[in-house]
Amino acid sequence: MTREDEKALLARIARLLDTPEHLGHPLYEALEALYLHHRAQQEQLERMITISDRYQQLAMEARQVTQTRYERALRRQQKLSRISDGYQALMRERNQALHEASTHDSLTGLPNRRLIDEWLQRLDGSRCRYTLALLDIDHFKAINDRYGHDVGDRLLVAVSSTMRKALRESDLCGRWGGEEFLLLFTDTALDEAGDIVERLRQQLANVSIRHDNQRLSVTLSAGLSERRDTESHTDTLKRADRALLKAKHDGRDRSLADAKP
Ligand code: GH3
Ligand code: MG
Ligand code: MG
Repeated sequence: MTREDEKALLARIARLLDTPEHLGHPLYEALEALYLHHRAQQEQLERMITISDRYQQLAMEARQVTQTRYERALRRQQKLSRISDGYQALMRERNQALHEASTHDSLTGLPNRRLIDEWLQRLDGSRCRYTLALLDIDHFKAINDRYGHDVGDRLLVAVSSTMRKALRESDLCGRWGGEEFLLLFTDTALDEAGDIVERLRQQLANVSIRHDNQRLSVTLSAGLSERRDTESHTDTLKRADRALLKAKHDGRDRSLADAKP
């Protein structure tokens, strides 16, 4: 029976019960009791349906609230991860920049004494063969005195840049001090390194900068020494320094190797 049929039947029964002639009929009382019982049952059923609908509505709303909260939390989490990733990348860049700044000379961009010391100390623990060269610009003080410190700086930058480009990939060069440079030739014997340094010196003597319509250039002196057996780098350096002093003493603009033992 459809809901419409049921409604029609109930209306028909209600009409029958409302008809005064039917009062006192033997079935009247039973039909009225059945009718009222049915109505009560129907009302109870409708109440239960309403409660169930409301419950389902509430459950759906609760699910939606949870879903919305979850999505919001997820978006917040994703945003936080993006911020954290960005922050970490920034920290990495900063650390790299800091490391670069602490190991390189700000004027010339060459590795500084701290980094050179690291290379040399690492070699102390090995049996590696290497040759060191100390290069020093000749009469550099006179350049500063005559043309000013800025001109001296520009010459230092020009010399450094040519030096870096001229050397082999495996050769390392750094700014050892004011106008002094240290070159490290690993797996290279004294004679071979001597040839490289001589060629480099010629090249550096041809480097010039323009100042007040004149071209300024410098010469360099060099002292070389090859590591003996497993001696420490300080000993090898001392001998290179001694050779450099002798080169200066002998008239500058030359390179000298520490005498072989
Ligand atoms: P020598 O041939 O005996 O080496 O003579 P020198 O004049 O080069 O040597 P000295 O040690 O007397 O002077 C070195 C000069 O290098 C003095 C110093 O002012 C200059 N100098 C050191 N660092 C820098 C720098 O970064 N910029 C400039 N412009 N000059 C510097
Ligand atoms: Mg010097
Ligand atoms: Mg000098």
